[in-house]
Amino acid sequence: MHFVRVLEKAPAKINLSLDVLHKRPDGFHEVEMVMTMVDLADRLEMQELDRDTIIISSQAGYIPLDEKNLAFQAAKLIKDRYEVRKGVYLHLDKKIPVAAGLAGGSSDAAATLKGLNKLWRLGISEAEMMKLGEELGSDVPFCVSGGTALAQGRGEKLTKIDAPPQAWVVLAKPPINVSTADVYGKLRAAEIRHHPNTQAVLAAIRNKDFEALCGSLGNVLEEVTLELYPEVGQLKDCMRKLGAEGVLMSGSGPTVFGLVTKEIKAERIYNGLRGFCKDVYAVRLLM
Ligand code: ATP
Repeated sequence: MHFVRVLEKAPAKINLSLDVLHKRPDGFHEVEMVMTMVDLADRLEMQELDRDTIIISSQAGYIPLDEKNLAFQAAKLIKDRYEVRKGVYLHLDKKIPVAAGLAGGSSDAAATLKGLNKLWRLGISEAEMMKLGEELGSDVPFCVSGGTALAQGRGEKLTKIDAPPQAWVVLAKPPINVSTADVYGKLRAAEIRHHPNTQAVLAAIRNKDFEALCGSLGNVLEEVTLELYPEVGQLKDCMRKLGAEGVLMSGSGPTVFGLVTKEIKAERIYNGLRGFCKDVYAVRLLM
């Protein structure tokens, strides 16, 4: 089949655990993270152009539409590497909040690789796309494979694991933008007081034990982000008071998420936070 127009969903990721083991000689941090996807997604539409060009549009006024956009970089990479002489018009319907700790840009890049692979019938395997993704950012390979995974190294060494027990996820982003590079830059890896227990998170997932999962969530970057932005800590407390069973900041923040099993509880938390925060979502884990 020859596609001239392809649609791809780019879901957001959350971290159920995020640990930094040490800083490496190459300047990157050696991490250990458990990541999964939630049903909050950007939508990408890609149309083939005969002209050899990449054009990006979006309804979101606050993201770059040039070579700084990760979807643009993904399109350029695939064009260069596979010597594609055609162009693409890419429309990005942005739903994931930006600079939020939800890997929105990385997921857009992954969706672009997948979509262009179909549009231009390149026959690139998932493993090859994950390798290409590494060149675009540490979270891109995970966004290509999706599901739930343990990520090691810079985040690019992935081991697929079972899906966590199904749950509602209430996400709330306070009105601040957090730079991932800034947070990692301020982290003193050698002085971390409390490392999250990633093994406990993995065991809880293996045993499909929701309570144990909620009790073992951990993110070492909270030490930095909560100090810089106390409102993130307040938001965590607020979620807990409203009845969230497990609460954690995702990535470098500032988005905080709460896990519950019952829809009615998710609704209560969602309604309780709406007055406090503009960006609030109640979604399911993506299975
Ligand atoms: P991560 O959790 O991987 O650090 P994030 O959710 O914190 O990601 P993004 O939403 O990916 O952050 O955006 C980070 C920066 O990347 C923003 O400053 C934005 O201008 C830029 N950017 C480039 N391309 C995109 C894109 N397609 N969508 C969103 N932001 C993009």
